[in-house]
Amino acid sequence: MSNRTPLMAGNWKMNLDHQEAIATVQKLAWTLKDAKHDYSSVEVVVVPPFTDLRSVQTLVDGDKLEVRYAAQDVSQHESGAYTGEISATMLSKLGCSYVVLGHSERREYHAESDELVNAKVKAALGKGLTPILCVGEGLDVRKAGDQVAYTLAQVEGGLAGVSKDQAAGVVIAYEPVWAIGTGEVATPDDAQEVCGAIRQKLAELYDTDVADAVRVLYGGSVKSGNVAQIMAQPDVDGALVGGASLDPEEFAKIVRYQS
Ligand code: PEP
Repeated sequence: MSNRTPLMAGNWKMNLDHQEAIATVQKLAWTLKDAKHDYSSVEVVVVPPFTDLRSVQTLVDGDKLEVRYAAQDVSQHESGAYTGEISATMLSKLGCSYVVLGHSERREYHAESDELVNAKVKAALGKGLTPILCVGEGLDVRKAGDQVAYTLAQVEGGLAGVSKDQAAGVVIAYEPVWAIGTGEVATPDDAQEVCGAIRQKLAELYDTDVADAVRVLYGGSVKSGNVAQIMAQPDVDGALVGGASLDPEEFAKIVRYQS
């Protein structure tokens, strides 16, 4: 048994305005309270749009909720003339614990390269935010059987120049692109193959302490009906959940590995 605390993160993408965000987090917290959820045994994170973060912060602080929250992206720059961008300092001030970086939708629709993702990882770490670094192959790569090499290259690129101490705190999310929002979930063996290879890569890049400490999540059409099998894999330490996290009752079931 590892002593890594499992982490369940719900990526809302561009869904739910700030009022809906409050209702969703309240419902999630009530449902987990009814279930007597122990947040120290499975950490719970919501990842709302930027415009919801202040409202979520107010709710979490006011009601002393144990739900944590994250941003969906951050600028690689500290501050200045970058219209439309949000800095790591701003997110820290809003009480964000995590920031999702290199999501496949950012890589695909905003042409984010490994170099840019790496710069964002460093910007986040520099301000005390924990990156959730997303990696994973597309269908063509999977069909060619190159998923491990492809994904490990993204891990190496995303962590280039990151120190051992900082790397130990990073979270990595393996999200095969062909499984995101498609209903096509990777088999538990598929998830274990790549998540295990990521952990080995961390041991090579750093050492076994770092490899043992880093939480590796699986993401791609996770639902209450398939979460338990995925979480049974030894190198899967949680899930990054998209669509299913918009329904707080369904997300609460996922958090508790219940079908
Ligand atoms: C995601 O957006 O990171 C994701 C995994 O989405 P979904 O769960 O909807 O496949």
